Amino acid sequence: MEPFAELRPGIRRIVAPNSSMMTGPGTNTYLFGDKEIAVLDPGPDIKSHREAVIEFAAAPIRWILATHTHPDHSPGASMLAQITGAVVLGRPAPDGRHQDDTFQPDTFLNDGGKLETDEFVLKAVHTPGHASNHVCLLHEDSNWLFTGDHVIDGSTVVINPPDGNMKQYIESLRRVRRLECDALAPGHGELIRNPERAIDWIIDHRLEREAKVAAALAANPCLTTHELVPHVYKDIDKKLYNLAERSLLAHLLKLEEDGDAIVTDGAWKKA
Ligand SMILES: [Zn+2]
Repeated sequence: MEPFAELRPGIRRIVAPNSSMMTGPGTNTYLFGDKEIAVLDPGPDIKSHREAVIEFAAAPIRWILATHTHPDHSPGASMLAQITGAVVLGRPAPDGRHQDDTFQPDTFLNDGGKLETDEFVLKAVHTPGHASNHVCLLHEDSNWLFTGDHVIDGSTVVINPPDGNMKQYIESLRRVRRLECDALAPGHGELIRNPERAIDWIIDHRLEREAKVAAALAANPCLTTHELVPHVYKDIDKKLYNLAERSLLAHLLKLEEDGDAIVTDGAWKKA
């Protein structure tokens, strides 16, 4: 992936140097505007990345936004705000692990809340699921949606309960699909030019997995989440079982919410 890219006039992308299995090529930091800049998802607090963002901006940074407070998206905000005096917009971290408590927004982003400047308008769309405080940002002129970890390019994201919620995730995907955006600009990977196809693929993939979970539950009643993993994830390496167990729990909790599963003392069965 190109580390620096101008995606269209007034929208630029710079990739943070934090590539890994979970972050793909690294976190995408987006810059909006030419005269006064808004930075979306400053990424982890890495000095070289912060300096690269300031240099690439080439104009005063006035606003900093974060889609959510996972450690690969928002920790860069606090130092960047100190240096530039920018206003921070977003939602603070909920309780729990893997959250960035240093993210302290000056302005809370309500669903539908807008950052309106002379050059562009960004509108917040609350999309809980991957994270309860996740917002996507709609750039109104281009009709592009900046999706953070709600939709990423070429793979699926982790839904880790309790902050991650599969039922909300699928509802938020359907909501985003209804926006009929012209492109999705994800937190990891390249621009997605066919939003409907990408979202349908994710929803289909999740519902297929849910059907496998429901079938495994019917065939193997009264197992714990841990015990159910090999019955559902027959295709994966044992090293990934811990991660798979979090995802399985997310599916089970959705089935429970839908009235299709019951849990008693940690043991699951079909409702
Ligand atoms: Zn995330």
